[in-house]
Amino acid sequence: MRLLGSIVLLLVVGSALAYKTYSGYQVLKTAPLTPNVMPYINKMSRIYDFWGTPVVGRPATVMVSPEEASVVNSVLNRLRISHEVMIEDLAPIVEQDFAEQERLMRAIPRQPRVAVYNRYMTFDEIDAHIHETVDANPGVASLLDLGLSTEGRELHGIKLSNGAAGQPAVWFDCAIHAREWIAPPVCLRIIDEVLADPALRDLADWYVLPIANPDGYSFATTDDRFWRKTRRPNPGSTCVGTDPNRNFDFLWDSAGTYCSETFPGASAFSEPECAGIGNFIAANADSLILYVALHSYGPIILYPFGHTVDPVPNADDLLAAGTASATVIESVGGPTYPVENSAAGLYFTFGASDDYAYGIGAAGYAYTYELPGGGSGGFNPPASAIQRVVDETWPGLKTLVEYTIANPTTPLKK
Ligand SMILES: [Zn+2]
Repeated sequence: MRLLGSIVLLLVVGSALAYKTYSGYQVLKTAPLTPNVMPYINKMSRIYDFWGTPVVGRPATVMVSPEEASVVNSVLNRLRISHEVMIEDLAPIVEQDFAEQERLMRAIPRQPRVAVYNRYMTFDEIDAHIHETVDANPGVASLLDLGLSTEGRELHGIKLSNGAAGQPAVWFDCAIHAREWIAPPVCLRIIDEVLADPALRDLADWYVLPIANPDGYSFATTDDRFWRKTRRPNPGSTCVGTDPNRNFDFLWDSAGTYCSETFPGASAFSEPECAGIGNFIAANADSLILYVALHSYGPIILYPFGHTVDPVPNADDLLAAGTASATVIESVGGPTYPVENSAAGLYFTFGASDDYAYGIGAAGYAYTYELPGGGSGGFNPPASAIQRVVDETWPGLKTLVEYTIANPTTPLKK
């Protein structure tokens, strides 16, 4: 009995120490950013972990470790950016997130071929769900196999099609940023809807990749709630991973250090996950009309490019389709999504996936959807909010597909 007690104690202690506690980490919230501070914010974002995209006219939130806090405070003071502590200590929030996830994992078992919308699913569960769905729907669903992640996980998605040749193609990927857990349920909902409605398959071939960063997502769900990057080790550094949404081979920029949350990688497409997605998009450039990457947190809908405020040639079409989608989301009770050029907020990015899909001339319509945040930490909606977010987002994505098919636009070069 005493032995059993020790084992139980060991297990409890073991699980308590299994993840990064974020003890003493704070989240600072700035006043709405002004254009003149944006060059400094861009530089800071290469060192510190901004949650969401810093944008002119809106407050920014930055997560700081106990070691970083005083430096970031003094930098913000020097820049005369007023700010406050939004979260005093992240530890209880992280603990609560993991405890809730553990409790819900026990309470809500996964059923075969049924996506779960009242808790977050693990990578293994989603992969099993994909395989079961493909097996159960021959002639409609087929496996989208984009190769292996750095740690050897399969980059698996689903193609849904009516089988006709020459159909236009639409693409959705989720959770290329590991900590953005609200995205995969939205991808799973797309699969559910397109499976259930042959009319949607008559519109287009649908490619859906529910977890675009399997290693990172797995790590975030077990070890580190705020893990964002891939899990490839960096030579000579204790800092692991590359920001996959800076690693695509379009205007890739080498700036950034290993420890940065936006480290772009040693070279474009150094990450097999990005190369797998990018090569597929390039190979299907002729049929692809729409590319959508689902992220959090916003809400905001962004369209190319991320490196310049100069409008792309078909910016009016991109804005119109995005606005049609945003209008529907709002009309079904969702939040207001502003629709903007990625760089409109004067925060500049290079090597993002939507810029790649658009920039190489594959998809004339390309977007990043930043889904809503929520929960006590602000970043991640609690499990109880998944169903609502999925319900309000799907009609907007459906509208986006219908609109882009009804209103062909001219890709950059094709
Ligand atoms: Zn993201």
